[in-house]
Amino acid sequence: MSSTTSAILNTGTSSFSQVRSHLKNGFKTGRTRPIQFRKQQLLALAYLIKDNIPRFQRALASDLGRSDTETIVLEIGGTLGEAVDAYHNVAKWSKHESVPWSVNWFAMKPTIRKEPKGVVLIISPFNYPMWLLLGPLAGAIAAGNACLLKPSELTPAFSALVAELVPKYLDPELYAVINGAIPETTKVLELQWDHIMYTGGPRVASIVLTAAAKTLSPVTTELGGKSPAVIDPSCDLKLTARRLMWGKVANAGQTCVAPDYVLVPKSFLDQFVRACKDVLKDFYPEGAESSDSFCRIISASHFARIKGLLDRTEGQIVYGGSTNEETKFIEPTLVTGVNADDSLMREEIFGPVLPIVGVDDVDEAIEFINARDHPLALYVFSTNSAFKSKVIDNTQSGSAVMNDTIIQALAEGLPFGGIGPSGSGCNTGKFSFDTFTHLRSTLDNPGIMDYIMSFRYPPYNANKRKL
Ligand code: NAD
Repeated sequence: MSSTTSAILNTGTSSFSQVRSHLKNGFKTGRTRPIQFRKQQLLALAYLIKDNIPRFQRALASDLGRSDTETIVLEIGGTLGEAVDAYHNVAKWSKHESVPWSVNWFAMKPTIRKEPKGVVLIISPFNYPMWLLLGPLAGAIAAGNACLLKPSELTPAFSALVAELVPKYLDPELYAVINGAIPETTKVLELQWDHIMYTGGPRVASIVLTAAAKTLSPVTTELGGKSPAVIDPSCDLKLTARRLMWGKVANAGQTCVAPDYVLVPKSFLDQFVRACKDVLKDFYPEGAESSDSFCRIISASHFARIKGLLDRTEGQIVYGGSTNEETKFIEPTLVTGVNADDSLMREEIFGPVLPIVGVDDVDEAIEFINARDHPLALYVFSTNSAFKSKVIDNTQSGSAVMNDTIIQALAEGLPFGGIGPSGSGCNTGKFSFDTFTHLRSTLDNPGIMDYIMSFRYPPYNANKRKL
C-alpha cells in the first residue's frame, strides 16, 4: 500500500474528495466553534510535538542530515511556541470586535465576528518541514477550521511520522494528512478549499494559484527569492561575518530567508572575505564534510541544480567549492567577482554558496536590489543609523533585519511573509490566526430606525431628491 493510500485510510475514506467531505462533515458538526475545543486541540498539538521530540529529530536527521541541536533551535522551539502562543491567546484573538462609535450606525450594533473559514489546506516545503506545516496548523486550529495537511514528499521520514501522529493526537474528523507528490497534490488542488496556505518555490506557486483560480479558493503564498545582504564598512566585521555565515550555512543554506548574496563595497571586499573565511574555519574546524553540524542537500536534483550554478559561475571560488554527489554534500562556498548576470544571480540558490558582489557605494547596492524582484528578506550590516535607514527606506522586501540574519522568522509578534513575487499574505502567531479567519460583518437594525432611514425606499419623489 502506498503512503498516500495509507494516509487517506487514516480518515476512513478512499479518495481526495472523500477526505475533503469527511473534514467538511466534521466542520459542520460545529465542534470547532467553542474556544475550549480549540484550546484542547492546540494543547494536543503541543504534546504531539513535545512527546515526540527525539522521533522528530531522528526523522529530520534522516531527511536532511540535520543535527539535533539545529532541529531544536530552528524548528521544534518555534513550532511548539506557535501552538502554545495560540493556546494562550485564542480567546483574545477570537473576540468579536465592535467598530468605532458613529451616530449613523451605533443603534445597529455593527460588529466584526471572527469566524473560521471552513476546511483549509496547508501545503508545505521540505526545508523546515515541521515549522512550515504544524506552525500554520496552530493558526488554523485556533481560528476554528478543519484542516488537510500536505507535507513535502522530499522529507519521507518526517512526512510518515506526521501522518502517524496527527490522527493519534488530534481529532481525526477535523485534521488529516495526505502524503504525496505532484500527482496527488494536483488532484487535491482540483477541489475547492476555504483557504490554501502554500509555502514553497515561486514556480510551483503559480501552478497552485492557477489551480486555485479555477475553484475560487483563496490562497496565501509564502515563497522565496534572492534575499540580499548589504555591508557597510562601519559594521562590526567579526560579528557581521559570524551572523551572515550562520544564516547561510544553517540547514545547508536551504532556508527561505537565508542571505542569498552579499553586496560589499569594493574597497572593503578583501577584509570582508577574510572575516567570512575565518568564521567558516571556526564553525567547521575539521571541514564541513566531516562535521555533524552541517546538513546535506535534500535531493539529487537540488544537488545537481546548485552544483550546476557553481560550475557555470564566472566568479572566483575563494573558499570551499568541493561537492560529493553520493552524499549530496556541498561545501560552504564563497564566490567573488560575481556580476549581475552570473549563473549564481539568476535564481534563488537555496544552498550553502554565497556570491559576493562588489559595489562602489550604498547607492549602487540599492539600485542593484531594486532592479530585481522584491526579496523575502533584506539584511543590512552597519553601526551607522543613517546607512541602515537609507537602505531600508529605499528598498522593499518581506522583512528587513539589521545586524543579523534569519531570526526574524522566529520573533514573536512579527508577521512573516513576502511581498510581490516573494509571497502574499503572512503567518506566525496572530497573523496565522488572521489568515485562517473570516471577518464577518454583522448588523442588527431595529425597526425604529425607519423613522430616519425611510428616505431610501421608492418612490423617489421631489421631497426625497432634496435630501
Ligand atoms: P516546492 O515548491 O518544490 O514544493 C513545495 C510543495 O509543493 C511540496 O509539498 C510539493 O509536494 C508541492 N508541489 C511540488 N510541485 C508541485 C506541483 N507541480 N503541483 C502541486 N504541488 C506541487 O518547494 P521546495 O523545494 O519544497 O521548497 C523550497 C522553496 O520554498 C524555496 O523557494 C524557498 O524559498 C521556499 N520557502 C519559502 C518559505 C516562506 O515561508 N516564505 C519557507 C520555506 C521555503
